[in-house]
Parts: sequence; structure tokens; C-alpha cells
Amino acid sequence: MKIKCEYCKIPGAYGNLIYETEYWQIYLAPSQRYLGTCVIALKRHCGNLGKLNVEEWDDFIEILGKLETALNKVFSPTLFNWSCFMNSTFRTASPEPEVHWHFIPRYAHKVEFEGLTFEDPDFGYIPQPIERKIPENAMNKLLNEIKRNLKL
Ligand SMILES: [Zn+2]
Repeated sequence: MKIKCEYCKIPGAYGNLIYETEYWQIYLAPSQRYLGTCVIALKRHCGNLGKLNVEEWDDFIEILGKLETALNKVFSPTLFNWSCFMNSTFRTASPEPEVHWHFIPRYAHKVEFEGLTFEDPDFGYIPQPIERKIPENAMNKLLNEIKRNLKL
């Protein structure tokens, strides 16, 4: 049995695809406890960050900068968490890690979006893998808002 990553629910779904580059795919994460949370997944099968090649790192750095710029334009987060955990799969006897980043905007302030209020109850601490689903129309608007500002 595969154990799901509690931050992005893989295997199964990283979320809705926002954009893809030559080496990475950017998804809007299913849970929006922290508004604008995305998952950046390597397209190639690779289970270890140390095995990324230079082209993949270069591409990733470009995504990192542009995602942060896009979120700053839309919601002005206070900071960004970037994490590559890959913990959950190691609870199994035969782990199958896949390199993917959790991009988690963090907020010292409230944000209103599509009639919903977003707060960051864990600000200053490790993000909690507590799911917050938002309505599909808000998810679609959020996805388009990020996409529009990405300029990749
Ligand atoms: Zn994950």
C-alpha cells in the first residue's frame, strides 16, 4: 500500500496543473490552508535531490523566482517556505520517493479572496498538513490568477 504525502496527496494528485517547463510541472495544491500553496514536481523519475542535474536546477531556480514574484503581486505573502520532504513514502517497506517541492506562502496578515478569508494560524512555525479545501470556482480563479502573473 502506498502512503500519501499529507502535504500534496501524492501518489494520486499533486493538484491542478498550472504550468509546465521543460523539467518541472507546477500544480496548485489541493489544500489551500496557506493561500497559494503549489507543488513543483520533477517530470523525470528521480527520488533524490542530490541526483538533479544542472539543467534541472537552473530551470527550478527560474520557477522559484517567478512563482515568488507572482505570489507577491497577487497576495503579498510575508515569506515563502520551500520544502522537499518525501517522508511519507518511507513509512513503507519499499519507499518510492519522487522529487517534488512544496511551495508554501506564509502570511503575517489576513487575506480575502473570492469571499473567503485566509489566515495563517501557524505563522512562524512549520506548516501543518491540515487540509483546507476551497470551492472549485475559487480554486479555478486562484489557478488563473497565479498563471496570469507567472510570466514563464
Ligand atoms: Zn508532497
